[in-house]
Amino acid sequence: MEVDNSEQRIRNIHQDLLDVYGEQNWHDNDDGVRQLLITILSQNVADTNTARAAENLFNDFENYREIEEASVEDLADSINPAGLPETKAERIQRTLKALREEGDQSEYSVEFLGEMEDSDAQAWLEEIKGIGPKTASVLLNFHFDADVMPVDTHVERISKRFRLIPFSASNGKAHELLNEAVPHDIKNSFHMLLIEHGKNNCTARNPTCEETKLKKYCTRYELVENGDLSPEQYPPEASK
Ligand code: SF4
Repeated sequence: MEVDNSEQRIRNIHQDLLDVYGEQNWHDNDDGVRQLLITILSQNVADTNTARAAENLFNDFENYREIEEASVEDLADSINPAGLPETKAERIQRTLKALREEGDQSEYSVEFLGEMEDSDAQAWLEEIKGIGPKTASVLLNFHFDADVMPVDTHVERISKRFRLIPFSASNGKAHELLNEAVPHDIKNSFHMLLIEHGKNNCTARNPTCEETKLKKYCTRYELVENGDLSPEQYPPEASK
């Protein structure tokens, strides 16, 4: 199954996703530091757990300084619903320290990143241990409208089902290929719509396969729902 990530095909998929789900706008763009911390909390965990952990974090601590200076144990306790609490507590504190040191030592801000080239801003963020391409690009895309597209598990899975990237692509490769292929003006919207589709219908194990508009792009529908392969045989070995 040949990859087809031509601009027109991506724009058609985007339009059909829009027709099914409508424009998605659930990211908080106002406070970039808050968005970055929430994105760290969201690593490898469901949205409901992220929301609970974020609510605890911003209720339990008055400001970013308190979060940075808290003991790892207290911080981990607060963000426990997000999973890996000690690891994420350390990531959050490293991130706040890096932001404070980049500024005037008293403020926490990400605004200096907006003055850098996208690639330099991405590299600056990824220098912080625990911040990878996905976390960095969520901030850059949503807060600064940078030309980078975050590739989370939903985006990666559905992009493979839609033949936008090879089945064999790693997350890093998926990030690279989708960032090249998806036009800047729809990166943000396309990303959020794929997540919406992944959460509501195109789940990893039991996709509903009811959204008729999207079936026509889908290799899984072609080969499993409408073909001879069992779900366990998908993706076919030859296509991986
Ligand atoms: S047909 Fe099924 S597997 Fe394919 S995109 Fe739709 S929900 Fe996902």
